Amino acid sequence: MTITRFAPSPTGYIHVGNLRTALMNYLIARKAGGTFILRVDDTDPERSKETYVDALKEDLEWLGLTWDRVERQSLRLDRYHAAAERLREMGRFYEAFETPTELDLKRKKQLNMGRPPVYDRAALVLGEAEKDALRTERGPGVWRFKLHQERIEWTDGVLGNISIDAASVSDPVLIRGDGQVLYTLASVVDDTEMGVTHVVRGSDHVTNTATQIQIIEALGGAVPSFAHHSLLTGPQGESLSKRLGTLSLRDLRAQGVEPMALLSLMARLGSADPVELRSDMAELIDGFDIDRFGSAPTKFDEADLFPLTAHYLQLLDHAAVAPTIAAIGVPDDLAAQFWAVTRKNITTLHDLKGWWEMFRDGAEPDIADEDRAFIAEALALLPEGPLDETSWGTWTAEVKEKTGRKGRGLFMPLRKALTGQAHGPEMAQVLPLLQVIRARA
Ligand code: GLU
Repeated sequence: MTITRFAPSPTGYIHVGNLRTALMNYLIARKAGGTFILRVDDTDPERSKETYVDALKEDLEWLGLTWDRVERQSLRLDRYHAAAERLREMGRFYEAFETPTELDLKRKKQLNMGRPPVYDRAALVLGEAEKDALRTERGPGVWRFKLHQERIEWTDGVLGNISIDAASVSDPVLIRGDGQVLYTLASVVDDTEMGVTHVVRGSDHVTNTATQIQIIEALGGAVPSFAHHSLLTGPQGESLSKRLGTLSLRDLRAQGVEPMALLSLMARLGSADPVELRSDMAELIDGFDIDRFGSAPTKFDEADLFPLTAHYLQLLDHAAVAPTIAAIGVPDDLAAQFWAVTRKNITTLHDLKGWWEMFRDGAEPDIADEDRAFIAEALALLPEGPLDETSWGTWTAEVKEKTGRKGRGLFMPLRKALTGQAHGPEMAQVLPLLQVIRARA
């Protein structure tokens, strides 16, 4: 049974970087017919906010990334303390009292001597009396996991064979002085107790994985398969970390990006396969293979989402967009016709409003002086009675004959006069719709 999880910390809105993690875990679970857990990593009571929990659920629902179960770390604190107690009993957990300033000083000294800044385990040699004195003076210490100083190895689903020397890593702090359980311990306990089989996350977690493997082994759990996807960069390879705040899923949604466009891009970006628009989740699941992803940083350009969105919208029938069309005030009986006329001329659904207002209120075209008389003459030739899709052809043929204009000089002023724009929908479709709408105005 495949079990995966997406484990965001609810300390902000989730962004495209988080989405990559969520989507990969989701697709792996769905492809295997397994379970996808939404795990809320909320052990930090100060930074975790309920509004972000609600927001991230809403964002995942918008994308159709449905979870089978929600877990909250804040409700499982007793499990983490029980695991901590076991580590204490087996001699793998020790209390340390250095202040952040002291640790910083130690690190600087090590770096000056050309040594890696690894915690020196000074706390290991403290006697009980010394610890009592430090506790009285400084309050409770932090709890560190004592790593076995050997190589930690695993075959990573993206990075291949990884080997990390535990001696080059500091013994991780798992519980803070104020008693707050930190992510590394909580995550390991959850992954083990929930039977998580595959952990996919960003490559910024590689060192965490090394220490987590030792903690899992100490606690007697089964080590899951790990895969670390590369981090996203901007189009020029620049770090996205500062911009991620503006690449939240809700910003993209507000800009009119369609879920399938975003999912199609994210399911392929950074893989050996081309980005292709997928029309539904089943296709996305079918076409996903984590083995195809490379370890190089992945360039993300938000601009790529818009052609995919436009392409996706072109494939929809009007029923799929009926609520949006109704919301901008298009009468129900004209909705299908309005959609047929506009759907190839929008980038996002937001563009529909502009077209509707143009049809309803008329346009303010920018007409060249030499075209004014021509337009007046042409409009006078518009056939009487109801117009249909053949009317544009018949009308312009007659205008051509009467005025001698042809090609661009004939069509462009008429398009501009009727739609206010130099580009846009098929005029053969525009003409009949315009007639009905204007007749009702
Ligand atoms: N809460 C962690 C994060 O957002 C989860 C990492 C993991 O997947 O284990 O970075």
